Amino acid sequence: MPELPDVEGFRRVLAEHTGEPITSVSVLDTGVLRGVTARRLGTALRGHRFEEPHRHGKWLLAPAGGPVLLLHFGMTGSLSWHAADEPRHRHDRVIWHLGEGELRYRDMRKLQGVHLAGSNEQAERTLEGLGPDALEITRADLTDLLSHRRGRLKPALTDQSIIAGLGNLLADEICWRARINPLRTAGDLDAAEVTALHRAMRRVLRDSIKAERVPPRDTWLTGARDVPEGPCPRCGTPLSSRRVSGRRTVWCPHCQPER
Ligand SMILES: [Zn+2]
Repeated sequence: MPELPDVEGFRRVLAEHTGEPITSVSVLDTGVLRGVTARRLGTALRGHRFEEPHRHGKWLLAPAGGPVLLLHFGMTGSLSWHAADEPRHRHDRVIWHLGEGELRYRDMRKLQGVHLAGSNEQAERTLEGLGPDALEITRADLTDLLSHRRGRLKPALTDQSIIAGLGNLLADEICWRARINPLRTAGDLDAAEVTALHRAMRRVLRDSIKAERVPPRDTWLTGARDVPEGPCPRCGTPLSSRRVSGRRTVWCPHCQPER
């Protein structure tokens, strides 16, 4: 599932192709469009050029000289650059034709991730309910965001209205790195724990952005989480897992005690 680092990778793909005129837009499947028709998407963008794109949480915003394309990647989406003659993938849903090649929005599922706003203001309104971007959050912000929360830590970290950008893998990886049990009550963390959590978040995000995904390395929880009863990469204790708010949550009972 695309999380902040994956979307940061898609942002870079788009950033390499700013300034090239959009010659046309092909909507191969209208099922991915939200609040915009295929015709409107084409007429609004044709002849325009993408400007420097930016990302907020798991959203990619691509201003195009007035209109703003907003992309969300749901569970399985991606954005990639291809030569025009490269065979299409069966899950390619929308294609922006630019000069020498094309940008392809691919999604195995169809979760209506392609939006069009008429202006920057309208684009901002679409994202109004989101919390601050995980990469921008300071330690003091994190304290404010988590304090007084009676729910568990894990769902607080993945709630996009609290912090934008963290998904299931990142949240578990960050808790594991910080040695904090994800089932703890979010508002109960002490100052040292919030500091550890913030430091882990910075480090995990920085390394994941380099890899353009949460890398399943041997030294990361992400590399061990899919092995049944797999050992903790740090201490060798068999990992624990259970569903928390519908998502599989993995932790080390030794490194991350419940207290
Ligand atoms: Zn451990």
